[in-house]
Amino acid sequence: MTIRRLPQNVAAKIAAGEVVERPAAVVKELVENAIDAGARQIRVDLMGGGLELIRVTDKGAGLTREDLPLAFARHATSKISALEDLERITTLGFRGEALASVAAVSNVTLVSRPAEAEVGAQITVSEGIASEVMATAAAQGTSVTVRGLFASVPARLKFLRTRATETGRCLRVIEEYALAYPEIRFVVTSEGRQALLTAGDGALRNVIAAVYGLSVAEQMAPLGESGEDETLGPKVTGERPVVSGYVSKPTCYKATRQYMSFFVNRRLAQSRTLNFAVEEAYHSLLLTGRRPVAVVNITLDPALIDVNVHPAKTEIRFLRERQVYAAVQRATREAVLTGAETPSISARGFTIPEWEIQTPMPGQSTSQDTTERQANLWRSAAPEPAAAQQTANTPAPEEATQDAADDEVAVGGRALPVLRVLGQVSQSYIITEGPDSMYLVDQHAAHERILLERMIAALRERAVASQLLLDPLPVELAPAELEVVGEHLEQLRAIGFAIEPFGGEALLVRAVPAALVGAQTGELRELLIALSGADAEAASHGETWEEHALANVACRAAIKAGQTLAPEEQRELIRQLEGAKARQSCCHGRPTMVRLSFAALEREFDRR
Ligand code: ADP
Ligand code: MG
Repeated sequence: MTIRRLPQNVAAKIAAGEVVERPAAVVKELVENAIDAGARQIRVDLMGGGLELIRVTDKGAGLTREDLPLAFARHATSKISALEDLERITTLGFRGEALASVAAVSNVTLVSRPAEAEVGAQITVSEGIASEVMATAAAQGTSVTVRGLFASVPARLKFLRTRATETGRCLRVIEEYALAYPEIRFVVTSEGRQALLTAGDGALRNVIAAVYGLSVAEQMAPLGESGEDETLGPKVTGERPVVSGYVSKPTCYKATRQYMSFFVNRRLAQSRTLNFAVEEAYHSLLLTGRRPVAVVNITLDPALIDVNVHPAKTEIRFLRERQVYAAVQRATREAVLTGAETPSISARGFTIPEWEIQTPMPGQSTSQDTTERQANLWRSAAPEPAAAQQTANTPAPEEATQDAADDEVAVGGRALPVLRVLGQVSQSYIITEGPDSMYLVDQHAAHERILLERMIAALRERAVASQLLLDPLPVELAPAELEVVGEHLEQLRAIGFAIEPFGGEALLVRAVPAALVGAQTGELRELLIALSGADAEAASHGETWEEHALANVACRAAIKAGQTLAPEEQRELIRQLEGAKARQSCCHGRPTMVRLSFAALEREFDRR
């Protein structure tokens, strides 16, 4: 075989493949150029999924007549000039090959007029061959029209999906840039119909409404100290990453991760790490398989990122990945916890949320007798986790509830009013009254949340409440079960179990997590197996084995639905819930309470 130099047009087509893999990639490059040109208005028109036509028109700085041919030359850019510039890139483009690549696989016409020029200029490049530059009348700014994309590259066409899919991808790219640049007005049409319109007023929430709809926009909580609707501009920052944007409250979720967008120094970034950081912050607040909606802006010193990892520039490498991860996770968690609102119900409209129909933990045993349950409830109320270790004595109810008259319990910056307990319905829900609303509390979900928070706090302080059993419990297991449980003895000890081999196929349980006192042998057996078999599931949530196990313990130990609670038990439960951090939902993400405001009641009864 002889080595041959490829003809220039063939080489260009091969190179183009890297940057231009599908119509959406062209849209991305052209929109980036418009943003780099400082445009505050960008219009995109699409035909045939972008294969027939893509036109991006901006009111940006424009190009001079002399620059037109240069814009299409490979590695010709106005954005960097020396190698050192790569260290501090502040523009979206810098490789100087997008226009060249697009023009290698399509027919491109560029018309432009800078503010100072009286007339505009036009150039057409078809499959890499440039026309003469001609004078033409033009508005200020630049308009790039791409026709017949991939018409000369049949192999590429074959890999494309249906036009509807390609249209969808093009629109998604534009939506993401609209989210990243709320100060730019985007006007988008596809097949002549308006597909997206943003105000360009700098308010991110308005863009979210335009892209995802009003109801999603209303359920978003602001991230960080940025406050609401701040116009984002590339801020000069120190070493620490600054996080802003919006994330959805737990009441709002989607079935895929596509609704999470990340921008690093206003550049679109795809990163599994960042996805993970956000999802982990919803830990125990969203049911498995539900994904949040998020628009996350990260600003940090450009020297701490490498954007030149991939030709399409969508991958970003962080020098200090852990730091960025932690900042995003912390900001999200704070926003989610402080922004979490009690879902409200409207009887009239029957807009009963999906979760309200779910029955909490059906078919649970009701065998525990009241005294034992009461003992459990009081014990979990003990302020010091360690206190549970010593005693199962029931503190006097008066003592535990005496300061319930405090006006408000402020937790995590948000205050939950003290709730007056009115009674129990369906042996499952506690009806309470606050200053302006009625709240229905799911007793099982609420107790589960309380127990979990206490146990996790105790675990972190290495003060796990373990209760020695007066009569150690032998538990019979099948050989396979014995093996998995046997492998987890140390971990089980960390959460409060003391278990030892008991000859043959049995284990002897000498101590249990304090919350589990009173559990039956059968229940314990099941729980041990569930806990030990949970590795894979726990890992997928980003929580530790211990945390996952404790959620399971909390679920077993919590008061069940279908149990009658004495008035003082009801009051104590509500009091403890007021002190919980993530009090709006149980460990599995189900809500602990629903709210019916007095205003809503008045409407229902036609009082106003
Ligand atoms: P890059 O964006 O990496 O510099 P491109 O091939 O995308 O490379 O563009 C080449 C050059 O053409 C840019 O550096 C810029 O000077 C000019 N250019 C492209 N699009 C526009 C536009 N919409 N407005 C003004 N100048 C543009
Ligand atoms: Mg570019």
